[in-house]
Amino acid sequence: MRAIDRCRGCSGKGIEPFFDLGMQPLANALARDRAAADPVHPLSLSWCPDCGLVQLNHTADPGELFSEYVWVTASSSTAKAYAERFCDRVLDLAGDAVRGGYVLEAASNDGTFLKPFQARGLRVLGVDPARNIADLAVADGVPTENAFFGRKSAERIVSEHGLPAVVFARNVLPHVADPHDFVEGLRLCAGERGLAIIEVHYAKAILDELHYDSIYHEHLCYFTLQSLERLLEAHGLFAFEAMISPISGGSVVLFARGVRAEKGPVLAGLESAERAEAVNDLARWREFADKALRHRELLVGLLEQEAEAGRRVVGYGASARSSTMLNFCGLGPDRIAAVADQNRLKQGFFTPGTHIPILAPEQVMAQGPDTVVVLAWNFMDEIGDLLWDRFGFRGGIIAPLPFPPRKTDIREVRGG
Ligand SMILES: [Zn+2]
Repeated sequence: MRAIDRCRGCSGKGIEPFFDLGMQPLANALARDRAAADPVHPLSLSWCPDCGLVQLNHTADPGELFSEYVWVTASSSTAKAYAERFCDRVLDLAGDAVRGGYVLEAASNDGTFLKPFQARGLRVLGVDPARNIADLAVADGVPTENAFFGRKSAERIVSEHGLPAVVFARNVLPHVADPHDFVEGLRLCAGERGLAIIEVHYAKAILDELHYDSIYHEHLCYFTLQSLERLLEAHGLFAFEAMISPISGGSVVLFARGVRAEKGPVLAGLESAERAEAVNDLARWREFADKALRHRELLVGLLEQEAEAGRRVVGYGASARSSTMLNFCGLGPDRIAAVADQNRLKQGFFTPGTHIPILAPEQVMAQGPDTVVVLAWNFMDEIGDLLWDRFGFRGGIIAPLPFPPRKTDIREVRGG
């Protein structure tokens, strides 16, 4: 791992560390061997006084992060419903220009977000660095190239296909080691008239709801509108409108073009809320770090009560985010007997560092748990319905986040 000495966004030199989560394993590096110790790396955050960007202090070697572990993520129903809404809003803002052109997605994953554009008769093209996922998308009818997105691949795409009318990148910019090269690629694709769209897990949501579980080695930058706009503007992209998205439990979408324009009502409103609530100030982020420590005490306390009462506790969702929370709180198989995950590629492994067995939901629920900790808490409604309908679960639920962690009954969390 390399330590940074300047801001990833604005290159400012005065970055200040404010939250140390200790040495942690890579969140996606599921363990094969319960008895062996996993490699650990420093995990800590800094804040930039110049642009307000919150960021990891260390950058992992991308080979280590992505080479072995590429989990195919079947899209959730939340994501699918949002993909439709996203498409409608993009077409609203793109205007008629989009009809003659095509829609490009950088890091397009399985093509879920390109499909609604296709369904509305538009040409689409995806770019994704994971070969198995790109192949999957192609097999599913979404043209997808297997490449890392950046300035070079953007140049090639533009020379082969022409300028896209719309280029979008969802939940990828915070994960790239060179955000400047990535944004340069977007700027190139946007050209003089195109629409560039960026979606990120919103640092204000992370701050307000204490999403400290979203801090892991792959997630390098935690953008506010201020820090993101500053980065975009350095490359000649100017945001003119925004939209809030449900992804990751609270994301923001910025719509930008290569020319400055008056800011729309949603963007203006969000920017003024950021200022009013001092979201870009170090003091707020120090509070965040203190609150995470308090969260740990409360969550560990809840699980101790369960153990004392002799209740059997299992977890649901072996996501990267759950890895940070389990490791930060020191929760292992003595507190959570097993973690259910629908992704077959994860089953049979153990959670990184904490070594809780990951099993199929059927297997975990067959153990007759009294309480389920919903580690993938941002899918609470979906998981609540699944537990109730498919497994007939009628026990206790622990929602670790948003802060404060709480225990409730399955009847209270069922969506729909
Ligand atoms: Zn900065």
